[in-house]
Amino acid sequence: MSKTEQTLSIIKPDAVERNLIDEIKKIFLSNNLEIKDSKKIHITKDEAAEFYKVHQSKPFYSDLCAYLSSGPILVMVLEGKNAVALNRELMGATDPKAAGENTIRKLYGISIDKNSVHGSDSLDNAKKEINFFFQN
Ligand code: UDP
Ligand code: MG
Repeated sequence: MSKTEQTLSIIKPDAVERNLIDEIKKIFLSNNLEIKDSKKIHITKDEAAEFYKVHQSKPFYSDLCAYLSSGPILVMVLEGKNAVALNRELMGATDPKAAGENTIRKLYGISIDKNSVHGSDSLDNAKKEINFFFQN
């Protein structure tokens, strides 16, 4: 049984900078995901560090935080059946070179770090990540 879920999507600086917001939104909308909330923001490196703190022990952590805070991003709440897994499927693998045909990262990703989009990896993290950016 599939259930309606919400997940967090971020269009990262490399994609915002290349004016890919509408193209990427179209992919979500044409795959039965609704955009329930969205805002364009420019976060600080400290905020990025807080958001990505699960990766704090990784060698790429500092660069990752610098990158996410390097320019405007679009944060969105996506909603639909199996939204968490569906969004991950539409995004494709972390490394655009390994991503499947027609996935967002295959179409638009530049490299493993500039890979155009973020998506929550579990329902639990989706709740935490939505709450991080959208406090009601
Ligand atoms: N990342 C990186 N180098 C790596 C692995 C990951 O720069 O070797 C970055 C990349 O932007 C990725 C983010 O760190 O999207 C978070 O990594 P994760 O493994 O959670 O990948 P994702 O869930 O985004 O596919
Ligand atoms: Mg992840």
